[in-house]
Amino acid sequence: MERFATTCEAIAATTKKLLKTGLVAEYLRSRTVDEAAVSAVFLSGRPFPVWEETTLQVGGRSLWGIVAELAGKEQGDLTASYRRLGDLGAVAGDLLPQHPGQGLGVLEVDAFFRQVAGARGASPKTEIVCELLSRSTPLEAKYIVKIMTGDLRIGLKESLVEEAIAKAYGSTPAEVQRSNMLLGDIGKTVRLAAGGRLSEARMRLFHPLGFMLASPVESTEEGLSYFSEAAVEDKYDGIRAQAHVADGEVRIFSRTRDEITESFPELPPALAGLPHDAILDGEIVAWEYPARLEAAQVVVDEPASEEGEAKADNLGRARPFSVLQQRLGRKKVSEKMLRENPVAYLVFDVLYADGELMFERSLRERARALDSLLAAPRKDTHHRGHSVAQGNLAFDADEEAQTDAAIIRAPVFRATSPEELEQLFVAARARGNEGLMIKDLESAYSPGKRGKSWLKMKRELATLDVVVTAVEYGHGKRIGVLSDYTFAVWDGDRLVNIGKAYSGLTDAEIAEMTKWFLEHTIEDQGFLRVVEPKVVLEVAFNNMMRSERHESGYALRFPRIVRLRTDKSPEEADTIERAKEIYEQQD
Ligand code: AMP
Repeated sequence: MERFATTCEAIAATTKKLLKTGLVAEYLRSRTVDEAAVSAVFLSGRPFPVWEETTLQVGGRSLWGIVAELAGKEQGDLTASYRRLGDLGAVAGDLLPQHPGQGLGVLEVDAFFRQVAGARGASPKTEIVCELLSRSTPLEAKYIVKIMTGDLRIGLKESLVEEAIAKAYGSTPAEVQRSNMLLGDIGKTVRLAAGGRLSEARMRLFHPLGFMLASPVESTEEGLSYFSEAAVEDKYDGIRAQAHVADGEVRIFSRTRDEITESFPELPPALAGLPHDAILDGEIVAWEYPARLEAAQVVVDEPASEEGEAKADNLGRARPFSVLQQRLGRKKVSEKMLRENPVAYLVFDVLYADGELMFERSLRERARALDSLLAAPRKDTHHRGHSVAQGNLAFDADEEAQTDAAIIRAPVFRATSPEELEQLFVAARARGNEGLMIKDLESAYSPGKRGKSWLKMKRELATLDVVVTAVEYGHGKRIGVLSDYTFAVWDGDRLVNIGKAYSGLTDAEIAEMTKWFLEHTIEDQGFLRVVEPKVVLEVAFNNMMRSERHESGYALRFPRIVRLRTDKSPEEADTIERAKEIYEQQD
């Protein structure tokens, strides 16, 4: 682990990508294949390969406590070091004592991590972590803690580790990337690369793959400026979901690659009826079903038209995210919940179908494959699944019971002018959706990438003017500055917290605010400083939810700081009534 740590120090010390990959490649080559495999996982900033879905379950706060105890330091010393260095790993490296006989191999660290993951309860976990950190040198501990907190911060993206693997074992970055994408395991990828067997990487069904992401656009003109032929879909406000279907078995994964099948018991039976194995990409949305289902076939080559719009409307419509929210995170979903808050799976892409990987095919081809997959007659499952409307809708239960679970092919429109796009945007908003997704028909599916092949266009909700009540130190390039703000609105003459945000201001503004907050701290809690409630910010957000997390009873989804409102006094900030109004408007 010492060699791993010194390599990381060298990687952090240069900004040159070629040098970074050179250092990693040289390090990997100097190790046994087993060590290199574990190291590659660590270098991607994780204790375990993605596909394993194993987690340590040790929170930042308990790690903080362990480091303080082993270092024999007061909270104040730890806070001072944290303020200077900006992450807990660096603090551990700085403060943990050196003893003779310390030092662990990467394989030993891996074994410790697995013990921590396997231990049940906080105190057994703490004991193992204490032993791990006291047996490692301070420099090793620095990187062990960084891996445990999930962020190395040495300027090494996973794509650079992939390049380094290619360099180390004489293959191309594309081959390595492909294997890592299919396996979700950079360690296994090292093993294959070292043995010259990268072509043997096979996709593992029932292990989540990365999701393709979208970049925001500000205008209809910009939305059509990056490629020549655009497929346009509504942007649904639900949760992204990847469904794996094979031999009647179904598992559904969220964007964080967690399995969420149990939260949506109505979907597996409907998906199990697909005519062959598949991996689908789509959005699970709280759905209001139409009284009667009309046939609706909306395909990729159909231009924007009133007829197309009408067909889209016949499918039913999305309900607000706050409705879906009540379905999330539940292990058991009651009959009542299924009846009152039904969902639909709006499918917009296919990554694998009938034994064939679809990633490298164009969206045009994938869309056709998806149309025919969903239009094909369903397999007879033991459920009452039957196909309606040329397969666009697959229902699992009878309509009277109102527990229908639909797999819906997300309608696709075409737009060739900003005016057409605007028309689609207005219609999407009228259907209660967030805005539009604009996709390049010629583009491949790039898992985990945010590029210009998928664009998103949405309008902000109203903004809130809020008062900053507490601040925290930032991470990465925001080390040592107070850049994470908790903020509140007025409830009578009391301020109640409503959210937390950490982006939007310029570096100069943040530096200035840091100085101000340091001078106006009411209470220093180490991690967090309660500050005088004087600073007013304007914040934007995607939508508002009911939440117990903050005192206001609301939380903001994806809050962003728009600007400092130096022109406003704290008394002029918004009230809880205004927040309530915005919340109700969005419904
Ligand atoms: P954002 O979360 O604002 O970055 O927007 C991207 C997200 O929009 C995706 O991750 C999906 O969860 C969601 N989304 C909704 N509708 C679509 C669609 N038709 N195509 C792709 N993503 C969609």
